[in-house]
Amino acid sequence: MNARIAEAAYDVARVRADFPILSTTVRGKRLAFLDTAASAQRPLAVIEAVARYERTLHANVHRGVYELSQKATDAFEGARERVRRFLNAASPKRVIFTRGTAESINLVAQSWGQRLGPGDEILITWMEHHANIVPWQMLCERTGATLKVAPIDRRGELDLNAFRSLVSPRTRLVAFTQVSNALGTVLPIHEMIAAARAVGALTLIDGAQAVEHQRVEVRQLDCDFYAFSSHKLYGPTGIGVLYAREAVLRDMPPWQGGGDMILTVSFSGTTYNDLPYRFEAGTPNISGAVGLAAAIDYLEALGIERAHAHEQRLLGRATSALKAIDGLAVIGEAQHKSGVISFTLEGVHPHDLGTILDDEGVAVRTGHHCAMPVMEFFDVPATARASFGCYSDDEDVDQLVRALGRAREVFG
Ligand code: PLP
Repeated sequence: MNARIAEAAYDVARVRADFPILSTTVRGKRLAFLDTAASAQRPLAVIEAVARYERTLHANVHRGVYELSQKATDAFEGARERVRRFLNAASPKRVIFTRGTAESINLVAQSWGQRLGPGDEILITWMEHHANIVPWQMLCERTGATLKVAPIDRRGELDLNAFRSLVSPRTRLVAFTQVSNALGTVLPIHEMIAAARAVGALTLIDGAQAVEHQRVEVRQLDCDFYAFSSHKLYGPTGIGVLYAREAVLRDMPPWQGGGDMILTVSFSGTTYNDLPYRFEAGTPNISGAVGLAAAIDYLEALGIERAHAHEQRLLGRATSALKAIDGLAVIGEAQHKSGVISFTLEGVHPHDLGTILDDEGVAVRTGHHCAMPVMEFFDVPATARASFGCYSDDEDVDQLVRALGRAREVFG
């Protein structure tokens, strides 16, 4: 869609009215919530869908023959179907509910990863979230496989040539983020998937920072695994998704045992349930799934492309305003960026900066953003990070800029 047309039709004041928390105050100041990359706020539609479920539909799923249990099962499986449509996956069997992106990646590492051994390689990039580093380190320790890391450059972009040169017939899996949470970089995932395919390696995409900002169609992407979290997509916490190609899933052993993932249990042997239940042991987060489905409905009604165009305009405006501040350095200046700006302010530790900004009602993230290798690469202990969502507005940016001016005064 033409970005100017999309933006012209976008009424951010109306969007903001859908999010009750945005009209609250912090220390008597207007809340400028600029930490959407850590967790997005929820619209009323999500809050109400969860409340409606709790009030009128709750029972355990897949178990009872009584009406309420069937209604709860319909709500839960309806949510799975909603996710399937959202991702344009071929079948709901390919949609596994997890607690979030981190759990989705751990599922793959612990189940699919069992087959790896010495000589096998997993390739990631230098800008991964810890959730896409540590499970592979743990897997390599267990199996003797090797973890390779593709480098980035000073702009915060992937070195695609170096990445390609690290892909080899030994590569069994290439796991990478679609958008960096610490830098905002949008990665060239089509090229990366093609490079992995060329050697027969599987691909896992960490979509935690992407799926809420751009349309993701897993069939068109042709990836093997895609992971995301509901709470970054305006839905509840404690629920997320692992999409996986069916042939790959069928070949994977269960990773957790418990109710729902079995067909029969006896001391002479247990048989496992069909997909996707084989990977969902125990009572699931039913209300969370209902909330996630409502969040997807909300975002699609709003228009992902329209919200994205709006966020891109804010990103441009904020980047210019921040770069004009004396002593401020933007960390991560990739050509293609999502609505995330990491920065440092000379002479002010990011944690002190976060405290001053908080005094001014501005909520930004300060720290290593669960991406310590990125901090190490840029030789900074931490950064402050402002991130945008569908409800962010010009006043949020102005409030941030004024608060940064105040921080400069305080720290001279
Ligand atoms: N991957 C990326 C890129 C993220 O930004 C995050 C969360 O910040 C995660 C993974 C982990 O998500 P969760 O904590 O919801 O499992």
